[in-house]
Amino acid sequence: MSKETSVFRVNQEGYETGLPVCAAVLTAEPVLLKNAAGEVIRRFSFEAPEPDPASGDRVTLLDLGVLEEGTYTLENSRESRALTVRPGAWKAVTHALIKGLYFQRCGCALDPVHAGPYRHGACHTAPAADWEDRSVRRKVTGGWHDAGDYGKYVGPGAVTVGHLLYAWLLFPRGCSDELNIPESGNGLPDILNEARYELDWILQMQRPDGAFYHKLTKARFAPFIMPENDLEPEYLMPASTCATADACACLALASRVYRRFDEALAGRMLSAARDAWKWLQAHPDFVPFINPEGVHTGSYSGWNDADNRFWAACELYAATGETQYREAAETLYAGGLSLIQFGWDDVGGMGALCCLFALKEKAGEILGVRLREDFLRQCEQVFRLSALSGYGTALAPDRYSWGSILSVLSHAMAMILHALLTGREDMRRSALLQWHYALGLNALDCCFVTGFGERPVMNPHHRPSGADGIDAPVPGLISGGPNNAHCYPGTREKLGNDTPPAKYFLDETPSADTNEIAIYWNTPAVFVGAYFCSSARS
Ligand SMILES: [Zn+2]
Repeated sequence: MSKETSVFRVNQEGYETGLPVCAAVLTAEPVLLKNAAGEVIRRFSFEAPEPDPASGDRVTLLDLGVLEEGTYTLENSRESRALTVRPGAWKAVTHALIKGLYFQRCGCALDPVHAGPYRHGACHTAPAADWEDRSVRRKVTGGWHDAGDYGKYVGPGAVTVGHLLYAWLLFPRGCSDELNIPESGNGLPDILNEARYELDWILQMQRPDGAFYHKLTKARFAPFIMPENDLEPEYLMPASTCATADACACLALASRVYRRFDEALAGRMLSAARDAWKWLQAHPDFVPFINPEGVHTGSYSGWNDADNRFWAACELYAATGETQYREAAETLYAGGLSLIQFGWDDVGGMGALCCLFALKEKAGEILGVRLREDFLRQCEQVFRLSALSGYGTALAPDRYSWGSILSVLSHAMAMILHALLTGREDMRRSALLQWHYALGLNALDCCFVTGFGERPVMNPHHRPSGADGIDAPVPGLISGGPNNAHCYPGTREKLGNDTPPAKYFLDETPSADTNEIAIYWNTPAVFVGAYFCSSARS
């Protein structure tokens, strides 16, 4: 990415017809909007605003209204920048974000027909030993590499699948194209084919007693080598209540989704979810995952498991209609939960999503009426954050942490759900600003999705992208984005103490703290993209 940024910030993938167009400008000079013929169709004059707290920029959002299909130019005396309005503007990037998961597949070769130059040999196919009892060895293959590393983690994988399945349930028109993956054309939509690749792995991660191993990783992260060259032994790491509850939720949800395509598979999934729930019942206290001595891969430990158990109970109730699960969900909800977070570390939003859009009237007084009010109220908080930000970003200036893109897109998901429940246009517009943020309307003038936009991320912290000898990174992966809260000393050295939070970003391979990719960052973007693709006129 070149260092030169424009005074105009736009969605670098263009704008969908029928939706309001918004851009940002960083000077106080008047701005002209011209059409393709060079005619001025709008003039904007404004005072320079106060600096935006997160970026330090004096930035003004320009509401260009709904524009006809075409190419337009924003202009002032210093420079101009083109923007396009076209039907299906975000289809390619939304589908690439799903295909990005195909590129994370483990346990199989990526062949040139589907992966093009990003092909590689089969990886991580050897049986794995149970860390706690090395005499137990199991062949567990498949799943997606979690992030820039080659580990596989049940909780993050389960929530990633959850995003995909709800994107398909709610917005099938926005995410059902063929993706050129090995299963394409088998009668199942490819988004479900891709999710199934992970589900098959999650099923293998269940112990005979119903619990789920927390993760399948090596003791240490691999160096920057291709996955088929990573031959260190993998281990099945101890079970946790978070992983077991997330797997339970995701499998119960999947049993509803896949039943119409494969009754036997759906039955297996529901039975695995019930077994997981029984184990959770027998282990009512939080069993955290802590890396055993000598293990240095990701821990994804979480702080408590109430949100995970809540999501599981909601999904089991949706899948079975049995009151024991509704009662469990009601009790967990009464303990107080955030309902607007959709990431691996807080899945309360996933449970709310199930209550509001799957259970609906079956949810009853507590999980229906009361939860809805609570959910709408919590959404107002993120809506206000967006209103206070110069770029409209729904993130407080002191919350640019590792994977800040997840918070931004999680908040977009919440606002989309709010707009669906209430029809509030301002909520939808605010959600749209988060999508624009991901695709370039931000303080860095950066499109966070590899392979897309005029100024995409080029050097993500991603082992195959670093090791494959190809300049361009694997496409369709979203970067974690700015992080000044938990960054590496090396990042601090380069960016110092005065760089504003929203600019605390290095498009450099070693910077896992600002520029890693992760499966569970891709899929909130899929959800948001699928919504805006499906709500377009085209
Ligand atoms: Zn692998």
